[in-house]
Amino acid sequence: MAKDRIAIFGDVHANLEAFTVALDIMKSEGVTHYVCIGDIVGYNANPKECLDMLYDLQPIAVVRGNHDEYIGTEQELIGFNPQAASAVQWTRKQLKDDDRKWLSQLKYETTVRRMGTGMPPFRIVHGTLDTPQAWGYIMNRLAAANSMQYQTPNALCFCGHTHIPMFFVMEDSNVEGFFYPENEPVAIKPNMKYLFNVGSIGQPRDGDPRGGFAIYTPEDAVVQLYRFNYDIATTQQKIRAAGLPERLAERLEYGR
Ligand code: ZN
Repeated sequence: MAKDRIAIFGDVHANLEAFTVALDIMKSEGVTHYVCIGDIVGYNANPKECLDMLYDLQPIAVVRGNHDEYIGTEQELIGFNPQAASAVQWTRKQLKDDDRKWLSQLKYETTVRRMGTGMPPFRIVHGTLDTPQAWGYIMNRLAAANSMQYQTPNALCFCGHTHIPMFFVMEDSNVEGFFYPENEPVAIKPNMKYLFNVGSIGQPRDGDPRGGFAIYTPEDAVVQLYRFNYDIATTQQKIRAAGLPERLAERLEYGR
């Protein structure tokens, strides 16, 4: 039987060109299951198309991102800059009521189990495990440690939200942060806690404009990050044609 290969991705942010390339790579890498850590919509110009593609994948788990929440609900956009608020309002109009209802029922965090496979259960959350509904950002070891206290050893956690692919390892109570090696898997050692940020499909922010996602292979105890190029110019054109803020188009080519 083929090995389980679990693609874990998020922050698609309505970027159809990036999502299409990512899914092609996942298929050619023999992915068997899909897990989404949230923010399918928001920022870019193809929210409906990206949601439909996600439904078609029949993901084994999806959690809610902050944009999914703003767009799926009638929440007032307090504290938003005017550009972000206008993008949320635009996106709300592109979706059907059923889509927004689907977004609004997503959980903040969940545990993914694959019964009878020997895979240890793992957690997924968009922001942090300590206060998932507060949308905190894990940018350093302290924030990582706060989230990782909710993980048991050997139970991995996958997150997103910062759009910066990196991972944290906790051994005893010491936490270290790492960037992923290029084109090489990270080997998971027993009795340690790992928190993997899988980066962003549709709006990377680590200064590298390539999209990113991870594949977890439980049988081999490895997680590998993938980066990919896509047709940024087309995505930018669509943002401009939709009348979305220019800054959203510009940032894609810088990965910021
Ligand atoms: Zn996001």
